[in-house]
Amino acid sequence: MKLKIIFALLFSSLTNLACDAGDLIPESGSPLPLITLDDAESQEYELTTPLYRIRVSIREDVGGNEENILGNLDEMAANFLDCQFDEGANIGFDKFTIEGGEEIPPLSQLSVFVVPFTFRCEAENRDTCDGIYYFGNDLIIIARENRGLCDNFAFWKHELGHRYGMAGDHSNQGGFEPCIDPAGCIDLPFELGD
Ligand SMILES: [Zn+2]
Repeated sequence: MKLKIIFALLFSSLTNLACDAGDLIPESGSPLPLITLDDAESQEYELTTPLYRIRVSIREDVGGNEENILGNLDEMAANFLDCQFDEGANIGFDKFTIEGGEEIPPLSQLSVFVVPFTFRCEAENRDTCDGIYYFGNDLIIIARENRGLCDNFAFWKHELGHRYGMAGDHSNQGGFEPCIDPAGCIDLPFELGD
């Protein structure tokens, strides 16, 4: 119990720091318990988005309309690709070779596990995620809502950025901005995605 309280205090000081811009009300919720790659891989990916046919699993406790969620993921993916690549949003339908020669499979090969909120994660250099991309598994876990700083699925484009060439250590992140910027956020002083 003590640990929980300490974590809550730590967490609230972080969100306060992030919200000094003023008109945001920080979420008071704690991150969800740990979600691992194993958890994600054991899901059934029975849903597909209407446009890119991305394979999706939505956790039972995610609120909102399923069709809206799927449409939202498609729309934001198209926006990201259109912003990031001269070839535009159509590259998501086919394999696409990025700078450096790596071939990225069509988005229909990607698996996405949607969870309701910021979650504890096993990522390099962090233990709390709003999204995570597993290189080699072509799998994203994405939080629908986050700690009150941004719009829904704010880090979806960030994780897609990783799929399309942004390094795991973010050393080349500058080449992906502003196309991956979290939606609806006000200048975050630290990065929440992974
Ligand atoms: Zn990242």
